[in-house]
Order: sequence, then C-alpha cells, then structure tokens
Amino acid sequence: VTADAVEAGPQLLVGSPIAKEIRARLRDEMAAFTSAHGRPPTLVVVFVGRDAPSAVYLQQILKSCENVGAAGRVVELAEGCSTDELRQQIRALNDDPTVDGIIVQMPLPEDIPLRGVIDAIDPAKDIDGLHPQNAGLLAEGYDGFLPATAQASVELLKRSGIAIEGRHAVVVGRSNVVGKPAALLLLREHATVTICHSRTKDLAGHTRTADIVIVAAGVPGLITGAMLKLGAVVVDVGINVVDDGIVGDVDFASARSVVGAISPVPGGVGPLTNAILMQHLLVAARGQAGRARA
Ligand code: NAD
Repeated sequence: VTADAVEAGPQLLVGSPIAKEIRARLRDEMAAFTSAHGRPPTLVVVFVGRDAPSAVYLQQILKSCENVGAAGRVVELAEGCSTDELRQQIRALNDDPTVDGIIVQMPLPEDIPLRGVIDAIDPAKDIDGLHPQNAGLLAEGYDGFLPATAQASVELLKRSGIAIEGRHAVVVGRSNVVGKPAALLLLREHATVTICHSRTKDLAGHTRTADIVIVAAGVPGLITGAMLKLGAVVVDVGINVVDDGIVGDVDFASARSVVGAISPVPGGVGPLTNAILMQHLLVAARGQAGRARA
C-alpha cells in the first residue's frame, strides 16, 4: 500500500453486506431442510442468570434464527444453579433429536467452571466450536465447528480481497473463543503468525511489524495509530460498552490515517459472526438428520 493510498483513507472492512449474502443463501437452504425433515434447524441457547449485555446478545441470536428460517429458543437456568444442574440440562439437549445446535451464553456465574460446561456439549451440536474435540480438529487442520467470531475475522479479510499468505499477522488476545482460533486460522491461510497477550512485553514493537493485525483483547483503544505500520490491515474484534456507545479495541481516530484497511466497530466482525453461526447451525442440523437415518 502506497502513502498516496493511505492519504485517500482506509478501505473499510464491513461485515453487513457479506452477512446479507450468506443469509440470503441460508434462507433457501434452511427452507429446503425444513420441508425435507418436517422441522426447522433448531438452536438452543442456554442462559444462566440475568446479565444485561448477554440478554441483548441473546435477542440478536434469536433474531438471526428468525431471519433465516431457523428456530431458536432459550433455556434459562436460575442464577444460583449448580454446575451439575447446568451439565444435566446440556445432556438433555444433547439427547433431544430435535435440537441441532447448543450455545452456552457467556459469561457464566463465577462459581461455574467454563471447562466442565463446555465439555458437556455434544461436539456435533457445538456450533460455536468450543468443545476440546472441535478445538483439536482446528489445531490439526481437520474439519470441525470453528469458533464463529474467529472465523468471521478471517472471513472478513478473505472476502474483502486481503492477501494473507506469506504476510506477518499479529493477533492480540489468546482466548479460546477468539484470539487462539483466529491465530490458527491465519496459519491455515499461510500467514506468519505472532500471538500477543496481556503479558507480552512491548506490544507496540510487535504490532508495528505486522501487515495484518487482529485485535481481540476487550480493552477500548488498546491499539493506536502509533502502534501500526503504514498501510497495515486491521480487524477489530473488540466490543466494549462505554458511555458513548460501543467501541472496539482499536483507537479508530488515530488508526485511520495510518492503516490501509480497517474494520469498524460496530459493523465489522459482529454482523458476520451471527451469519456464520447460522451456517454452522445448518451443518449441525444436516449432521443430526444423518444420524437419525443411521
Ligand atoms: P477474553 O477476556 O477472554 O480475552 C482477552 C485476551 O486479550 C486475553 O488473551 C488477554 O491476554 C488479552 N489482553 C487483555 N489485555 C491486554 C493488553 N493490555 N495487551 C495485550 N493483550 C491483552 O476476551 P474474548 O472473549 O477473547 O473477547 C475479546 C473481545 O472481543 C471482547 O471485547 C469481546 O467483547 C469481543 N468479542 C466480540 C465478538 C464479536 O462477534 N465481534 C464475539 C466475542 C467476543
């Protein structure tokens, strides 16, 4: 990317048009599934307690289901429920042949360990790719369910025509939900990958050498323009609620005069994540139907 191009302003990596395209195709495919099997692909979101931001996210998922002709329902457990009760609920959903996808809404109450809950989900219904079996498949390069947000960040690059092969990508964040799987997906696309996290020394020293930066730290304004190389491509996964609304992990104002391309927040990765989740739901439903025939 030349200095002239940077002068003209960065390319905006917007997720909505791509999500719209995915949803249009999904609507036909979901309808075909429904008429072949007499029921729509069905997602169940398991929800514990009453965390307000998660409730908003929950409504978005249910709306996504409705938009493409899938069924979405919520199973809500009371705030003080035990890990065992939650696991039992998940097992009941695993055994229900009319349930295709299961998502456990995070964050969970502090006394419920995430691992024990994720492990309980049938990997064939784990449409957000968090079960260790799906994580292992990703690490080894097999097909399995990918964590939707991580997949969305790399899809956004690919579908926006950004070359990944041979380029240096820095991922900021190493969570199992976003950072780590995003790094593995970039590796799958033949990038040279560096993973940074909260204990990384000299974060800016790393990000300044990157052709591509994916940021998933949950820290508003963590990455500024001064930390980026001229013409870099930046995907901002962060969703942070601040007084002025929702902002990402990248300080857009200072980054925009430096980068070649950047995903806005909101409107970048977010819309694509939900569309991809619906794609996974269809795959899970087809798998479920195949199991029923066997
Ligand atoms: P997390 O808290 O599980 O992980 C954050 C990661 O960032 C950790 O690995 C941590 O080491 C790293 N980190 C924190 N502070 C840092 C710092 N100062 N310097 C370098 N690294 C630092 O969060 P998560 O679940 O991975 O989510 C990350 C962000 O992505 C959040 O803002 C979340 O809201 C957002 N998110 C967006 C979507 C979407 O659809 N767009 C989906 C899930 C999460």
